[in-house]
Amino acid sequence: MLKDLNREALEKMRLVKGDDKKIKQVSGQVKRTLLTDGTLSDGGLVMCKAGKHYVSARQLQENLGVCPVCGYHTHLSPRERIAITVDEGSFTEWDAHLTTGDPLQFPAYHAMIQKATETSGSREAVTTGLARIDGEEVVIGVMDNGFLLGTMGTVVGEKITRAIEEAAVRKRPIVLFTASGGARMQEGIFSLMQMAKTSAAMEVHHRAGLLSIVVLTDPTYGGVTASFGMLGDITLAECGARIGFAGPRVIRQTIKEDLPEGFQEAEFIEAHGFCDRTVQRAGLRPLLGRLLRLHKRGADGQ
Ligand SMILES: [Zn+2]
Repeated sequence: MLKDLNREALEKMRLVKGDDKKIKQVSGQVKRTLLTDGTLSDGGLVMCKAGKHYVSARQLQENLGVCPVCGYHTHLSPRERIAITVDEGSFTEWDAHLTTGDPLQFPAYHAMIQKATETSGSREAVTTGLARIDGEEVVIGVMDNGFLLGTMGTVVGEKITRAIEEAAVRKRPIVLFTASGGARMQEGIFSLMQMAKTSAAMEVHHRAGLLSIVVLTDPTYGGVTASFGMLGDITLAECGARIGFAGPRVIRQTIKEDLPEGFQEAEFIEAHGFCDRTVQRAGLRPLLGRLLRLHKRGADGQ
């Protein structure tokens, strides 16, 4: 197993025989456990899914979840995202109590929700609330790819809509981090309705003359891309994020042609005019602070 590893990265980490027992893959829940588990020693190693090499869990954590060897941006939970984005102690969560019903009585849906709640610690695939970024008060929403792939069901749509509408009432900017597989199939038409609802809320916020910033993170697809995800005044994307409507496999099968290199990656969509800027994770917070200050309104919000 060890002979296939990236030699340079290994030397850097001083990997010795036996250490491979500590190795885990940097993806989804395993990565999350590592990032939130303060008990990991400096010698703890994780495998970078993108580069297929090993990195120190501690280094990965200190680097905001970005692989120090190849620059791969690992997925963050809303809690981690909020922690690295907003001013310390400034976040107040809204609507955390909202839980989904099962409008279509879809087989096993309840159990799936329950399991996702247990593993993610959240009741739904988005966390919303009020916070400050560089001293500026904003309404923030962060989707969770680790909760049923961040799919937008009734509660996700409702929480996002409420957050945007409340931002309009309070005359505050809104910053939304997307990460979603699209509509939630277990809720059928109720899920699709959330596209119209969130889009309408964005329009209300926009007509109030307020700033909206959407940060597209990996992966953002389907109903989210086709609704509020593309309706911000400013659209940013995290480096390497995959962004689209249908996935590349479906498109390839449909058009029966090979797709260009980097198709649907953030840098590709920036080059084709679908987002304003691709940003490294470390550069996001200062950029958001700068944008919020540039668009700052008076103390009364006027
Ligand atoms: Zn890597």
